[in-house]
Amino acid sequence: MALGLYLHIPFCKAKCSYCDFASVPGRPEWYAPYADAICAEIAGAPARFPDIPAEQLPPQTVYIGGGTPSVLPVPLLERILRALQEAFPLPADAEISLEANPGTVEPEGLRRLRALGINRLSIGVQSFRDAELRLLGRVHDTEQARQAIRWARRAGFDNLNLDLIFGLPGQSLEDWKQSLEEALSFAPQHISLYALSVEEGTPLARMIEEGTLPAPDDDRMADMYTWAEERLAQAGYLHYEISNWAVPGCMCRHNLGTWRNEPYLGFGCAAHSHLGRRRWWNVRDPLAYIQRIEAGRSPMEGEEILSEEVDMAETMMLGLRLVQEGIEVKRFRRRFGRTPAEVYPEALSQLSAQGLIEVLPERVRLTARGRLLGNRVFAQFLPD
Ligand code: SF4
Repeated sequence: MALGLYLHIPFCKAKCSYCDFASVPGRPEWYAPYADAICAEIAGAPARFPDIPAEQLPPQTVYIGGGTPSVLPVPLLERILRALQEAFPLPADAEISLEANPGTVEPEGLRRLRALGINRLSIGVQSFRDAELRLLGRVHDTEQARQAIRWARRAGFDNLNLDLIFGLPGQSLEDWKQSLEEALSFAPQHISLYALSVEEGTPLARMIEEGTLPAPDDDRMADMYTWAEERLAQAGYLHYEISNWAVPGCMCRHNLGTWRNEPYLGFGCAAHSHLGRRRWWNVRDPLAYIQRIEAGRSPMEGEEILSEEVDMAETMMLGLRLVQEGIEVKRFRRRFGRTPAEVYPEALSQLSAQGLIEVLPERVRLTARGRLLGNRVFAQFLPD
């Protein structure tokens, strides 16, 4: 189990209509103080966590997410990565991912990011249809997305992820096919497909409540997902997580660690960390985060110690997201001293009888039907 590192960059050019992530639009005057604060938090981490088990070091993966990390000027990202390397020297083959929005990149910046050691770029394309991008409130259009992908390739990013969203109000199966086909035409190493989730309090939710937009149609979403599964399999992609596909050898190592419920340290506002049975999180507001660090105070807002019951349940719910791997019985037993069948005899036999999971001697995983009804399966493992 290697440690993963997560860095949260909360800034975006504008707020998308569906977004309830920890992100703020604008505020370029906070960029430099935020970079200083996150560098200070990173620099203090080795002293704050002296008891990270030796087998979890050095960290093997870094994920810079947000927000839109690519809005930060490259020199600030450079400082942050330098602070990271000083606090946690990374192996030469570490995976370092950065999320980028097509409206925030240019060729020279991408070349410099690649030269900094960032070796995996995740581009938030979301759709190859301009009307859909407008509906989502994205700051970019389809031509900028195509351009960003070409520039990323030229800058030397040979491990590229494209994010797409499906199930948009009014989106037809044909519209969806068109977006996914265009994504495939760029031969990305990795594709993430997310079902649109309408989050309370967002402009999108209000438009649906007011009847300006139709609510997403669950049956059509299921058709879109099933079609994508078939199309991506035909194109040679491995479906390794409910929402993620990769060409063999290009699964996201950082996120694999998350789904295996392995330890991670998060830095920046709203970042979560999980070491052993302890989990904690930082203040969500970027200014409060900066002020706390500047005042020499901890940015931590809350923490909890997980019981074994909760730790096991979360390991089941996260691991079942892994389509092929599922929950490895050996790994689960090594961690908890018991097998999933010993801990959850009734849930496993019921779910298996309903055709939602497959219980094999070496692993437990979702069936194709279970992947469509994941939440029903996961609910079975929630502790009372
Ligand atoms: S770019 Fe991402 S984080 Fe930023 S507002 Fe849009 S969806 Fe939210």
